Amino acid sequence: PQYILMVNHLRKYFPIKGGLVSRTVGQVKAVDGVTFNLRRGSTMGLVGESGCGKSTTGRTILRLNGEKTGGQVLFNGQEIYDLDAKAMHALRPKMQIIFQDPFSSLSPRLPVGEIIGEAVREHKLVPKAEFNDYIDQIMDKCGLQPFHKDRYPHEFSGGQRQRICIARALALNPEFVVCDEPVSALDVSIQAQIINLLKDLQEQFNLTYLFISHDLSVVEHISDTVGVMYLGNLVEYGETEDIFRNPLHPYTKALFSAIPIPDPTVKRERIALEGTLPSPANPPKGCKFHTRCKYCTQRCKEEAPVQREIEPGHYVVCHLYDNK
Ligand code: SF4
Ligand code: MG
Repeated sequence: PQYILMVNHLRKYFPIKGGLVSRTVGQVKAVDGVTFNLRRGSTMGLVGESGCGKSTTGRTILRLNGEKTGGQVLFNGQEIYDLDAKAMHALRPKMQIIFQDPFSSLSPRLPVGEIIGEAVREHKLVPKAEFNDYIDQIMDKCGLQPFHKDRYPHEFSGGQRQRICIARALALNPEFVVCDEPVSALDVSIQAQIINLLKDLQEQFNLTYLFISHDLSVVEHISDTVGVMYLGNLVEYGETEDIFRNPLHPYTKALFSAIPIPDPTVKRERIALEGTLPSPANPPKGCKFHTRCKYCTQRCKEEAPVQREIEPGHYVVCHLYDNK
């Protein structure tokens, strides 16, 4: 199929515990209606302020968060939440994640060759006799020196540690990788190297990425499509060019108006976001953005907008576009 991943109305709520006997007193609607399709071999950037649900969306798509609250996650046409534990474990190598902080996700007590190879062994992906050569190849492809495989994580720089994390994921021969802020903790010069490595590997292995970041220029550079999240909702998504040239949702417009434009002859109005981000435990009714939106009408306060396709492949969730 053209789409490796189809996500429909995905929801993930977390209970809020409180009181003396720790009852459930509410819920955080971390992911509250996320719908998009992801083309095989492409990268979708996922942007939005911190706390908007980007990481939870990534983890829920990978089924790393227990059960979902609602909606569908179809990976190669298969609802992954229908799989039993054994089948999910067998699928796991195909769906991987790399994190922002490459240090805390690497065991300090294992040499990097073991870190990279641990899950390869567990899933019996290569014959024993070929294991060492296989790890050497993977390290080489990720820009690591194979003769460093007996060293420990603390002996590597931040950029190299992120390469180790990428190697660990790549060693499993994945199809889909969630990259959760993979370069946010790195120096700008190192960021470009890691982004280029991810792009190279994508081309060589036809990888599909969900690339979570708050850095819009990085997202513009690496993504084929972009999704914008606000308080657990995917409020807009489409081709990168369409989203950056013609943002439609009032939130996207405000978020993107802060990007500096390299061409000084082009003027863009800076749109300030008013008010503060409401709590996802107690989000506004109707359109969740209505408390900060300068186009808000009475209807926006009462009725949640639904996702509409405004131009081919460009989707937005806002009442302003209901009659377009
Ligand atoms: Fe603003 Fe209404 Fe659109 Fe929400 S639905 S973004 S409040 S105009
Ligand atoms: Mg996050």
